[in-house]
Amino acid sequence: MTTQAPLKASPLYFSPISPSHNVAPGKEGYGRYMLTIPWSRTSGWGQAKISPRADLSFDPLAGVLQYATTCFEGMKCYKDEAGDLRLFRPNLNFDRLKRSGARLGLPAEWDNAELLDLFSKLLYLETDLVPQADGQNLYIRPTLLETSESFGIKEDAFASEALLYVVTSVNLGAGLYASAEGKGLRLDACSEFIRAWPGGTGSYKLGANYGTVSVAKKPGFAMSLWLHGAEDFVSEAGAMNIWIIKEAKDGVLEFVTMSLDNGIVLPGVTRASIIQLLEDHASGKAEFPLPGMPKNIRVVQRDIPMAEIVEGTKDGSLKGMFGCGTGVVVVQVAEIQYKNELYQIPANPAIKLLRDTMTAVQRGAIAHEDWSYVI
Ligand code: PMP
Repeated sequence: MTTQAPLKASPLYFSPISPSHNVAPGKEGYGRYMLTIPWSRTSGWGQAKISPRADLSFDPLAGVLQYATTCFEGMKCYKDEAGDLRLFRPNLNFDRLKRSGARLGLPAEWDNAELLDLFSKLLYLETDLVPQADGQNLYIRPTLLETSESFGIKEDAFASEALLYVVTSVNLGAGLYASAEGKGLRLDACSEFIRAWPGGTGSYKLGANYGTVSVAKKPGFAMSLWLHGAEDFVSEAGAMNIWIIKEAKDGVLEFVTMSLDNGIVLPGVTRASIIQLLEDHASGKAEFPLPGMPKNIRVVQRDIPMAEIVEGTKDGSLKGMFGCGTGVVVVQVAEIQYKNELYQIPANPAIKLLRDTMTAVQRGAIAHEDWSYVI
């Protein structure tokens, strides 16, 4: 039996773009290079390669084409004031990619440090493409998929060949925040289609979770707010985890987001970071203070029924609502359509405060060695 080779950053095969390299029409915002690392069950990870961004080709019966055996991550590369490139908590994305891969029977083991080394090499090559302005970045899309033929039910459910690749794109995902025009997003709470359910794949970043969303989107709304369960519990919206800000009965300002327990929502990196910022603030031991944030706050992770949001808009207990994710960072929700009624959500200064703090940490304006990784 041969042993499977681990993922290694070196030796790296590098194929530079030619001096006469022309960007294909419509691909201007994309990184010029891609990182590819093949995997096979017999030999493990193959040699990593950084080469000009190009089309991929697979057998027509490849698992990715037939059964959507593909998962991905969304990350961003920021350029700080000193011109250094930064990633935000990259190991969390790498671990989530492993978790998604394992759910699909794809290779899910590698040393994150080796992958990070390869990321750094890819990103260095695109340094001039990474914008330096506040709120701008180079979006990074790591993708893991099954390239081997997959037909019918496999004996052991595992892929025999796979590919991990990484491509980049300037400011992908920034449009949604801009479309809110400072006023906040309009969401359509969708009762017709269910994105995820207990025991399903909602908490994994699988391609199949995303291909079905566009048909649900109603014109005039930024995206669907996904619901589940008999009580129309809110799950998430687009590529964002959702929060409500609520005045609790004991007068404490609660920041409520869905719990991860039932496996319905994606465990967001931004969500986890906001939880930590808020909990540290509430406990008074904040290393990264949130100036202007009330002291008396609490973070709660639980189900949020739509009825609670509707009631909250009527009795005034709902003090704000926002989405968070790598793409938007933090964005206010201004209005929700639910069962043909429109509900206005109040604005809350805490939302901008969280956004400003997150973006400052991401761009290195607030030093946070554990979270912001200089490559
Ligand atoms: N939910 C979904 C469905 C997403 O696709 C994303 C984006 N990855 C998020 C939430 C937010 O996660 P993160 O903060 O890690 O970007």
